[in-house]
Amino acid sequence: MDSVKQPQPASATGTAGAARKRIGIFGSTGSIGKQALEVIEANADKFSVSILTAHSNHDLLIEQSRKFRPAAVVIVDETKFQLVKNELSSLGIKVLAGEKALEEVAEMNNYDMMLAAIVGFAGLKPTLKAIETGKTIALANKETLVVAGDIVMQMAVQRRVPVIPVDSEHSAIFQCLVGETRNRIEKIVLTASGGPFLGKKPNYLVNVKREHALQHPNWSMGTKITIDSATLMNKGLEMIEAKWLFNLQPRQIQVVVHPQSIIHSMVQFEDGSIKAQMGLPDMKLPIQYAMAFPVRIANDFPRFDFTKSSQLTFEPPDIRTFRNLALATDALHRGGNLPCIMNAANEIAVFGFLKNRIGFLDMTEVIERTMERLTFIEKPTLEEYFESDAEARNFAATLINL
Ligand code: NAD
Ligand code: MG
Repeated sequence: MDSVKQPQPASATGTAGAARKRIGIFGSTGSIGKQALEVIEANADKFSVSILTAHSNHDLLIEQSRKFRPAAVVIVDETKFQLVKNELSSLGIKVLAGEKALEEVAEMNNYDMMLAAIVGFAGLKPTLKAIETGKTIALANKETLVVAGDIVMQMAVQRRVPVIPVDSEHSAIFQCLVGETRNRIEKIVLTASGGPFLGKKPNYLVNVKREHALQHPNWSMGTKITIDSATLMNKGLEMIEAKWLFNLQPRQIQVVVHPQSIIHSMVQFEDGSIKAQMGLPDMKLPIQYAMAFPVRIANDFPRFDFTKSSQLTFEPPDIRTFRNLALATDALHRGGNLPCIMNAANEIAVFGFLKNRIGFLDMTEVIERTMERLTFIEKPTLEEYFESDAEARNFAATLINL
């Protein structure tokens, strides 16, 4: 079972000289979405924008749409529909609103690749629709695979849809696997920056506030993933994401703290050889790589200079302090609906922490109690994943009186 799912070339569109690849950016107003639009702007000969979606930031959605002229946009917050429609209809842009509309546009046949950049469980349904209708997926939304990785990847295989990772660690692994079709992975090493609280102990963490946790040392990202990075839940989610993307057994996945974030992750093959992918931490690179795969595009992003960086260091993660990583390891091993339950409880816990309703360490309590409480299902259907998500959310919310 430890044979490797190897990167396969995406459709030929977008390669040099071919037609422009048409991108649908789901979550265009977020950190990943905005950076993807920068990449597209810099490579207007290779990419065009067909779809943009936002939750509630109508101003930015309108601004982006005026500039990139997509065929359709979705504003999830229905109270903003009229505003957006008034601004964009005259430009010939189809404007839709509401959660369901995300699935509706995901099914449209006016684009080639979905950049799945919505945050959280909300990204799952539109991504499934895109796969069902044959679109290549550039996947930033890791929660999609954490919740229902078996179903998502199975559908992708059935529909022959490439799922190309955008998450920097998984992009690194994907890049290391190019040309290794016949070779087996012994293990992968996911690197973690350690976040803003690396080296801290519970007596310190008990008092940290939202403002501290939002200061990530190496990456500038959306609020949810920034908190996940501070608690190490992000690395836990990424272990599960890696399991599904690369068809790995839990024992083949190792996490190592590497505070400089220069090595983005590594693959060790069965001869003991280790390949690493390196570079300065900048999400534009994995975004661009996923969008342009299998070709690389020249750019002028800042380069890493070995003569200026004296040290690359590594240490094991402190899972006694950052217990979320232990919980995620448990979910990775036990599988079933447990990662889905953990993910839902985590989304609620992070929300509660961001609203100053609970403390930093309480997040782990909420997740652990929810994981203990809900009924374990070994082989859930999609419907059961949705139910587990809803139940876990409700239970976690009652724990923190939301
Ligand atoms: P973000 O919070 O900056 O942006 C999220 C986007 O999703 C926004 O466009 C928002 O409007 C939309 N959105 C939020 N809730 C929604 C909902 N309920 N329904 C529909 N749309 C909704 O998040 P981000 O940092 O860009 O991260 C996006 C995804 O990419 C996450 O899954 C994250 O884990 C992953 N990721 C992000 C980074 C990064 O550097 N930011 C790196 C790796 C992976
Ligand atoms: Mg990552």
